[in-house]
Amino acid sequence: MAIEPLSARARTKIVATVGPACRSVAQLVELLTAGVDVFRLNMAHGSREEHEQVVADIREAERQVGRPVAILVDLAGPKIRLGQLLEDPLECPPDAEFAFIRDQQAPASARELTSNYPLLVDELNTGDMVMLADGTVSMRVIAKERNRVRCRVVQPGIIRSRQGINLPGVMLSVPAMTGDDTNNALWAAKSSIDFVGLSFVRSPNEIHALKTLLRSSGSAAHVVAKIEKREALDHLEAIVTATDAVMVARGDLGVEIDVAETPVAQKRIIATCQRLRRPVIVATQMLDSMHHSRRPTRAEATDVANAILDGADACMLSGETAIGEYPREAVQMMTRIMLHTEEMFRDARLDDEFNPAAGVHPITSAVVQAASRIARQVKARLIVISTRSGGTARVKAKQRNFIRTLGVSDSDTTLRRICLYWGITPLAGAPVDSGPELRRYIDHWGLADGCLEVGDLVVFITGNDFVPKAHNLLVVHDVEAAAP
Ligand code: PEP
Repeated sequence: MAIEPLSARARTKIVATVGPACRSVAQLVELLTAGVDVFRLNMAHGSREEHEQVVADIREAERQVGRPVAILVDLAGPKIRLGQLLEDPLECPPDAEFAFIRDQQAPASARELTSNYPLLVDELNTGDMVMLADGTVSMRVIAKERNRVRCRVVQPGIIRSRQGINLPGVMLSVPAMTGDDTNNALWAAKSSIDFVGLSFVRSPNEIHALKTLLRSSGSAAHVVAKIEKREALDHLEAIVTATDAVMVARGDLGVEIDVAETPVAQKRIIATCQRLRRPVIVATQMLDSMHHSRRPTRAEATDVANAILDGADACMLSGETAIGEYPREAVQMMTRIMLHTEEMFRDARLDDEFNPAAGVHPITSAVVQAASRIARQVKARLIVISTRSGGTARVKAKQRNFIRTLGVSDSDTTLRRICLYWGITPLAGAPVDSGPELRRYIDHWGLADGCLEVGDLVVFITGNDFVPKAHNLLVVHDVEAAAP
């Protein structure tokens, strides 16, 4: 199968959620060809058997397109949900009174509500807000009794059984991971999954606990901390330091905090990730209208562009690819918006501030900065990073250098990690342990791709084992014609 040329690929990465609208291998291949880098499996839906089949199908699609593809398993986390309503759907009129009762109790009337969280009645207090139906309905707690809390409707609307409940600002003692989350994380560890998303993160300890679980099961999967609670914003610096990557999970975040605060929160999260050199995904409703339309709204196109200009490494599609009518068109549109927006980085100032808190070896940092400067100065057409763990590629990604960059490695795990790094295209199959061979390979690959011509310059960043754990070798190479 012909691989799309480098020039057709956006530097910003695309995460696409898998669902009924893109479940076959042929559809997955179509989405990859349109520009997807990472497929996301939402553990809130589907059975273990279905997830296993999806992973097998993604790996088959990856084989067919011939480039690394990463898989993100998104753990549902302790999402609190309504129980079965006596009347479903149920109207919540303005100022009407409802009550949350303990889950063991049977509702005596349609206005008595249960949830899947046994401590809800204990942990709600007078004055707390209860957000239902994705924040479209809200109630305030007006009185607390032994076995019930009484609430009054503030924002009227319709609710349905098992819809999510958000409790902004309420300190919940719910554990970070449910039993299902632990089982799913253990399954992910055994299934060569590349990224595991942790929902409703509140503290860095929760990230450490998930990493320990994954490592003890032999998995090198990177953890993606989903920022969707006020507590996560309160501990942002520590959470970003603890995690491997971050997601601005705007769906729940926009209910847990005032939706009017989310744009600034998004910018703050991205800026923190930029400073601490962590990849960051902006998620939810990016091209929402493309569920049912071939074109996005102007506001959605602008939202994608602004996320990129703020410094997002990746943008995510949720229902647009999982259940929408136009999954391929949504990915193609995202790629087009990205390619146009990235032009703004053509001559942008390179971010080369050294930040010790980012946990990067100072030599790696310095060599990456120098490589980008040299590449610009000599007008190199390509930068190639040979990387063992992907750390050098992660640092380079944060520079927003417009020059196309390839990441090569002898580790599939590393190549798939790079799927999330801005501006770095993972290239499988390159001989990484010999300089001359790697240079010849890249010449041949670039000439075939069309991104290189004989006489072009390529900058290589690689190690020479002179300094352990650091990339300290920088080579400027002239592209040569292949030997006859
Ligand atoms: C979100 O809340 O924006 C999100 C991505 O998480 P989920 O889809 O699991 O609700």
